[in-house]
Amino acid sequence: MKYIIVTGGVMSGLGKGITSSSIGRILKNMGYEVTAIKIDPYINIDAGTMNPFQHGEVFVLKDGGEVDLDLGNYERFLDTELTGDHNITTGKVYRAVIEKERRGDYLGSTVQIIPHVTNEIKERVRSVAEASGADVCLIEIGGTVGDIESMPFLEAARQMQREEASHDLALVHVTLVPVDAQGEQKTKPTQHSVKELRELGLYPNIIVARCASTLPVAAKEKIALFCDVPVNAVISAPDAMDVYYVPLIFEEEGLSDYLMDKLELNASDSQSKWKKLVKRMEMTDESGNQISIAVVGKYIDLRDAYTSIGESLKHAGIACGYKVDIEWIDSDNLNGTPERVRESLRGFDGILVPGGFGERGVEGKIRAIEYARKNDVPFLGLCLGMQLAVIEFARNVLGWEDANSSEFGVTAHPVIDLLPEQHDILDMGGSMRLGNYEAVLLEGSLAHQLYGSLKIVERHRHRYEVNPEYIDEIESKGMIFSGKNRNRMEIAEIPSCKFFIGCQFHPEFKSRPENPAPLFKGFVEAAIGA
Ligand code: GLN
Repeated sequence: MKYIIVTGGVMSGLGKGITSSSIGRILKNMGYEVTAIKIDPYINIDAGTMNPFQHGEVFVLKDGGEVDLDLGNYERFLDTELTGDHNITTGKVYRAVIEKERRGDYLGSTVQIIPHVTNEIKERVRSVAEASGADVCLIEIGGTVGDIESMPFLEAARQMQREEASHDLALVHVTLVPVDAQGEQKTKPTQHSVKELRELGLYPNIIVARCASTLPVAAKEKIALFCDVPVNAVISAPDAMDVYYVPLIFEEEGLSDYLMDKLELNASDSQSKWKKLVKRMEMTDESGNQISIAVVGKYIDLRDAYTSIGESLKHAGIACGYKVDIEWIDSDNLNGTPERVRESLRGFDGILVPGGFGERGVEGKIRAIEYARKNDVPFLGLCLGMQLAVIEFARNVLGWEDANSSEFGVTAHPVIDLLPEQHDILDMGGSMRLGNYEAVLLEGSLAHQLYGSLKIVERHRHRYEVNPEYIDEIESKGMIFSGKNRNRMEIAEIPSCKFFIGCQFHPEFKSRPENPAPLFKGFVEAAIGA
């Protein structure tokens, strides 16, 4: 097994996740099986309880793992499906160590960070890597070097660097080269951050320098000298037009050559598939073909909260040769008169209402859905977005003005409700229906047409469902449930509209650059036709 450990310095948000994913993609393009692990040094067990306002999207894996959004990048770049074990947090590590201690596994020893916690980290990394069957495992250590929380993980990395053969482990440090007022690229922050890493006993093999524009040789030489790496191991990572350009930029910068050498891998060039994708993106940009989609959500101030939705729209756009321009609309601002709602939504080729939790912003989303339905604007509702489409239909077509979800209070028409099965999940200590579940599609429905199959598997993250008691009445008025998992309604559509579809699951987690999610593709196609 080859390991590539990625650390970061100077500041957060430098794009370590994209760097790791891009390195992985380069190796995958060369024919290697690649897997990836994200280490998050926070104490939370997983990202499930984290607020998207603070931390961005919670990405959901096939096994129901609720994880950091970087795992979404790995899945998209590597076109793979990971499991919850691929996200290691301080919470998971300490919980395991404490459980072992209580069981007496440590035979009376004093349990310490070194070796017990660091051994737990190394064991987890190695067993996840081995179990994946991959040739190469990327390990991205979240946070920046110097954070208190990262210390046990960096120490585990140091030990791994010692234990693994030199051709089996490469350490990549991602850092920043800012530009000063005179326009000069400054390497000092990089030098300091590498110095800090070296004080911890970690010696980077490759420096990836985030910069506004490609580093000149002189800057690379300076970094190489101060950081004790060869010049060809200093890789510029200039701001890119799109994250999917990054693997090719790294390739041009010689990263793959250096990695091949260091890890004694056999280079076989086959970047062509990825090149084709990037070429298609360039051609789409040049064509000037563009559609404009309104995403009506409540976490819009932090764009990271909807990363997978943005990516999925992009994937669908690439497949259709159209650039998808996304307008993020705060649902709280759609609370005015119908005229104001119309004013805000007029002119979009499609309206998407994403998932969410809690009551804030819900009424604005319902108004957006009403606007889409009445004006026959292509509509895609995801999870809460589908539930709200059912509520809107119940209120405005069936005339049940008080129709609502029991998530938002008691009502005489709880068209969205907790099913008895959900109480079982709650009783078992879980709280949500998570991960992969199957849905059976209705023959001849829009959903069937888009998926081209009668059975699908998609990822879920929700508690509430369409209340089966109301299904007949709703269907009698023209909204049909075209995807079901026994008594759970998975897809709702209105056949009399051009394109109006909502799903209880999250198709955005399975969309890939070269293989867009069917519902997104259909939505974008409908928006192009609009
Ligand atoms: N809050 C809703 C539920 O729990 C929808 C969840 C979501 O959109 N992910 O069912």
